[in-house]
Amino acid sequence: MKGNIIILSAPSGTGKTTILKRVMPELGPISFSISHTTRDPRVGEQNNVDYHFVSEEEFLQRKDQGDFIEWAKVHGNYYGTSVQAVLQLQEQGQDVVLDIDTQGARQVREKLPESSSIFIIPPSWEEQEKRLRGRGTDDEETIHLRLANAQKELCDIDLFDFVVVNDTLDDAAMMFKAIILTLRAKQRRLANGNPITLL
Ligand code: ADP
Ligand code: 5GP
Repeated sequence: MKGNIIILSAPSGTGKTTILKRVMPELGPISFSISHTTRDPRVGEQNNVDYHFVSEEEFLQRKDQGDFIEWAKVHGNYYGTSVQAVLQLQEQGQDVVLDIDTQGARQVREKLPESSSIFIIPPSWEEQEKRLRGRGTDDEETIHLRLANAQKELCDIDLFDFVVVNDTLDDAAMMFKAIILTLRAKQRRLANGNPITLL
């Protein structure tokens, strides 16, 4: 059976990466789509693991070649998802998580209407700002830009099939896992007609 395509978006600093790192090892056949970006690596980020870090020239060349299923300029940097990598993982039976912004989510929903989408939101604005600052990876200008963009991204909430509030990490991780298990069960039902069973 082909895997599910799962779009995952959240305003910056909400905790998307933290949730993914927690749940992915517990979910079996699921892979993270490694995006291309022109952003500089953060301390601890590895090339070809967290992102494919590329120059603007290489990014634009790939875009013009049609390598990306979606791409967007987010917080001043380019980000894009390789169509080939996603479809290859899906054919191997892996569920594929696309950690992308809401502009990208809109593009993937149009191109792959069978995809599913999850939006993670923070419990409050105060907590969102606290997390973004607490991460300690961004300068003040970047934090302001990301907070302003976060307000705009929240307006796109209706694009998404599922919304998870990341209040406590334990609860958010449990919700995320429940969604993935439900999608798998639904897919099995579509394939063999059996009732939805959570495995
Ligand atoms: P995103 O990937 O959405 O930009 P991160 O996963 O980098 O966000 O999380 C931003 C910061 O918030 C990190 O320092 C992380 O440890 C913290 N964080 C994430 N989830 C929670 C939570 N449920 N409660 C408290 N802090 C959290
Ligand atoms: P960060 O720089 O914090 O890793 O990511 C910034 C934003 O870019 C996040 O909202 C993240 O989801 C988004 N992003 C990461 N990769 C992609 C991608 O391939 N395409 C799009 N459209 N957004 C991405």
